[in-house]
Amino acid sequence: SLRALVLSQGADRKVSGAIETLPVDRLPAGDVTVAVDYSTLNYKDGLVLTTGGGLVKTWPHVGGIDFSGTVETSDTPAFRPGDKVVLNGWRVGELHWGGYATKARVKADWLVKLPASISTRRAMAIGTAGYTSMLCVMALEKHGIKPAAGEILVTGAAGGVGSVAVAILAKLGFTVVAATGRPQEGDYLKALGAATIIDRKELTEAPDRPLLSERFAGVLDTVSGVMFARALAQVKYGGAAAVCGLAGGPAFPGSILPFILRGVSVYGIDSVMLPKAPREEAWRRLGTDLPLDKLDSMVNEAGLSDLMALAPRILKGEVRGRVVVDVAR
Ligand code: NAP
Repeated sequence: SLRALVLSQGADRKVSGAIETLPVDRLPAGDVTVAVDYSTLNYKDGLVLTTGGGLVKTWPHVGGIDFSGTVETSDTPAFRPGDKVVLNGWRVGELHWGGYATKARVKADWLVKLPASISTRRAMAIGTAGYTSMLCVMALEKHGIKPAAGEILVTGAAGGVGSVAVAILAKLGFTVVAATGRPQEGDYLKALGAATIIDRKELTEAPDRPLLSERFAGVLDTVSGVMFARALAQVKYGGAAAVCGLAGGPAFPGSILPFILRGVSVYGIDSVMLPKAPREEAWRRLGTDLPLDKLDSMVNEAGLSDLMALAPRILKGEVRGRVVVDVAR
């Protein structure tokens, strides 16, 4: 049997959850069964746990868009019992049952073997948020941005994607400007490696001109909205932004001018359907370029029974860093 946080949706769309013990044959079809050690709470999980966010099509549902654990049984030679694995995305936790359970059954193609340097707990301290931070950093590097090019702005810095991004960029030698709506987290962000903290308010006024003074060599944006428009208007000639999030809503009041007068590029980052090769590359890089002491400082631990209360808090931007979910608790 397995233990899971089983979600159902009421007529008012409100989601409720109960911890249940289920027979293993309730798991969806798949070729690998994993004994889950840890899952996490990401922004998208917050949506699934509160309203479903339009992401879940069938109820009852088991959420959790990522998990780490140990292969229990496998119908393919690609994985053997005992392999340590991580799963991010592929709409697991949305269309397919996810990580908020002691067991999960998934397609082998969706799993990545963990580098030996990353334990299953640290894999979920990283989680989808941190793996996405790495993808954003890789996009800025691929653009050719080097530390000497100047400051890199990270928006939503005290959140999950933001915190991991600050730590990786600082480790790689970049000068990080962390924008946060929680100035009380300034010391936390400095300890992660931020050189300068700016108050979110400095970026929440829509730009009155399509181009502002050039400041940032690169931008790593998790927020969108006015913040992104304002950041884009300050990217230096030939610079780039990697965009992955919409914590401030999907629309942004931007101008075309940064692209056509300053040659600025924007890289869209999707972690969910990304092919296997760049996923493995990102996890390999996380094993070398994310300082583990910094990672450990971002973590709050929770159990399955804490998730319904935590979900609305992540949507309000009240969660600092990363929440690791011990599914045995
Ligand atoms: P998170 O921990 O909640 O972090 C988001 C941060 O954004 C908050 O901590 C807050 O940081 C800031 N923020 C929240 N509401 C805001 C608002 N109304 N205006 C301005 N800033 C606001 O969430 P996460 O897990 O890091 O995810 C961040 C975003 O990335 C989400 O939109 C998520 O859906 C997206 N994401 C996308 C992918 C992908 O594949 N593209 C993968 C992972 C995540 P401060 O308090 O520091 O300002």
